[in-house]
Parts: sequence; C-alpha cells; structure tokens
Amino acid sequence: MQQPLPPSKRRSTTHASFLLQGTGQVILVGVCWALRGPMATSTSPLTQERLRSIEQKLRERKTQLEVELKAFASRNPHASGDWQARYADVGRSEDENAAEVTIYSDNLSLERTLEKELRDVTNALSRIEGGTYGTCRYCSKPIDEKRLLARPTSSACIACKVERKANAV
Ligand SMILES: [Zn+2]
Repeated sequence: MQQPLPPSKRRSTTHASFLLQGTGQVILVGVCWALRGPMATSTSPLTQERLRSIEQKLRERKTQLEVELKAFASRNPHASGDWQARYADVGRSEDENAAEVTIYSDNLSLERTLEKELRDVTNALSRIEGGTYGTCRYCSKPIDEKRLLARPTSSACIACKVERKANAV
C-alpha cells in the first residue's frame, strides 16, 4: 500500500509543477510575442502624431525641391508638375556654345530627377489629404511604419514592391 506523501513533499511537488507551468507560460508568451510582434507593427495604422510629422517632412522636402528646381528650371505653365530646364546663355564662341550644351544636358537630367521626386512628394501629400496615405496601392494593406518613416513617399508595401520587381525581371 502506498503511503500518502507528507505535506511538505506534496507542497514542493505542487510548487515545482507550478514553476514548470509558469515557465511554460512565459515561453509561450515569448513565442507569441516573437510571432506576433513584427506582424502587429506592420498592420497597426499610423498614429496621427506620426502622420503629422511625416506630412511636415514632406512639405519641407517639397519646398526644398521647388527651390532647387527654380534655380535652373521653370514651371511649364501648360502642364502642372512639369518643369523645364532653362538654356543657359554662356556666350557665342564655339567653346561657350559647347559649354551651354553640357550645362543644359546636366540640368536636364537633374531636372528629371528632382521633378520625379517632387511628383512623388506631391502625390504622397495628396494621399495624406485624401486619407489613403500609408495604404498599399496594390494590396490595400497598411504599409510598414518603418518603411514610411525611411521613405515617406512609399505607396506600396514591401511584399508588393518585391513581387513587382521579381515580375519585372
Ligand atoms: Zn501591398
């Protein structure tokens, strides 16, 4: 016949199993956190505060880009968002004419780069106004906040961007 465990032993067994159970729960919580952590950040919408700070950055960048463009280009009065590099008149000699062409072609490529960025910034600001900022334009899921903070003009989530790049190759 088995002797019942003395109360002291019983307590220690209970305590041990409680500890074990406790550790198990801690591990489980840890696993859940690890699994849900990144997902939770990518699906949580931007806070108003973050959105305002991004909007502020975009407005500052817009002003800066316009200043840079105005230095050597003019707005196309017939097409909104289009800029045209000005042709610099250096002089009439052959050397000067060659220099003009070089300057113009450099300005043209710079103008295209700045114009494209300005268009991206303007579009991002329109999305903020329209309430669609931070939503992927392909899958309509929220774009990861870290991505938006690093590249505020993003209009697609990383998954869609990667997928489109892979399909384009
Ligand atoms: Zn997407």
